[in-house]
Amino acid sequence: MNEFDPEWELATRAIRVGHHRTPEMEHSEPIFATSSFVFGSAAEAAARFAGDEPGNIYARFTNPTVRAFEQRLAAMEGGECCVATASGMAAILATCMGLLQQGDHLVSSRSIFGSTTVLFDKYLTRFGIQTSYVDLADIPAWEAAIRPETRMLFVETPSNPLTALGDIRALADLAHAHDCLLVVDNCFCTPALQRPLALGADVVVHSATKYLDGQGRALGGAVVGDAQRVGEEVFGVLRTAGPTMSPFNAWIFLKGLETLELRMQAHSAAAQQLAEWLEGHPAVERVYYPGLPSHPQHELAKRQQKAPGGIVAFDVRGGREAAWQVIDSTRMLSITANLGDTKTTITHPASTTHGRLSEEQRQAAGIGQGLIRVAVGLEAVKDIQKDLQRGLDAL
Ligand SMILES: *Cc1c(COP(=O)(O)O)cnc(C)c1O
Repeated sequence: MNEFDPEWELATRAIRVGHHRTPEMEHSEPIFATSSFVFGSAAEAAARFAGDEPGNIYARFTNPTVRAFEQRLAAMEGGECCVATASGMAAILATCMGLLQQGDHLVSSRSIFGSTTVLFDKYLTRFGIQTSYVDLADIPAWEAAIRPETRMLFVETPSNPLTALGDIRALADLAHAHDCLLVVDNCFCTPALQRPLALGADVVVHSATKYLDGQGRALGGAVVGDAQRVGEEVFGVLRTAGPTMSPFNAWIFLKGLETLELRMQAHSAAAQQLAEWLEGHPAVERVYYPGLPSHPQHELAKRQQKAPGGIVAFDVRGGREAAWQVIDSTRMLSITANLGDTKTTITHPASTTHGRLSEEQRQAAGIGQGLIRVAVGLEAVKDIQKDLQRGLDAL
């Protein structure tokens, strides 16, 4: 058995929490590929179903491999409870279904993941839940958007792709002053770099698909928070509606968590080097990276995050044509919108992730045609730089 010592540091939690060794004495976490569980007697079955006795019943409710992942991530985020989901979007859906009801209102930062916007605008509205959007760095705008029926503030920080930051502590104070919950999508930083619950947030959601796996292999998500809201309300939605994590994927994420802190430090260190180099390149107009003193929220980044993270965005001179030329001149970087992989990826947000916005909306969001986003992987920085340099030098 592996009891959790509350004094353990993050790296130790990431490796040691959650695995309850079976009588086979396996060293690595086993995959429990089973949909149901057996009872010793009719009376035991009855006690489990009645909730009088703890234990597994059916894998839509609990599975030991999935639970190991949940316990590990909860310990890393510093939350009482975690429930794993089939994807990051399932985590956000289950959070909203578990914690909101018809007539409630949500205030969200504008620059959130595209599917989250669609979930809020197209689907939650059908069930009588309205969302207002604000600039994530503008605290007075958040406050002005709060109505008597507002129950939740939702923020993703740093933002994608411009790496603007939301002040988690200020937003938590604001939420609590208005009887609201603060939900933070911690996908970009992970608990290795940012711990929203310690800053006052109530719930953390994750796309495990990104850095928690870190190697682009599986889809998953998680919700972390207290035993009532997450352990009862969000879990209730999951066990009933069913977008739960598979034990195979949970095993992949368990292994991913073991190296998370090391990987996030390496992603960050490489991104910092690249950002500094890009800032000095004559073809580059502006670099967006919280680790640069030129970032308008550099001080907040230092206070709120352990490191600036792996996402760097930059504007090249010459608009879309120049940006596409830089992207098409790469030979190693992957041209894909995904992130959080060992492989460095490069994207033109204006024509992909933000392609459905009108030119006016894009301008308002600060996403120009010359903008390129790089999610820095773990290849040698020198090679990533060389791959970008070819196109940039030709401009
Ligand atoms: C990818 C992503 C999601 C959605 O996660 P999936 O696992 O793709 O469903 C949510 N939030 C952020 C910030 C993401 O990057």
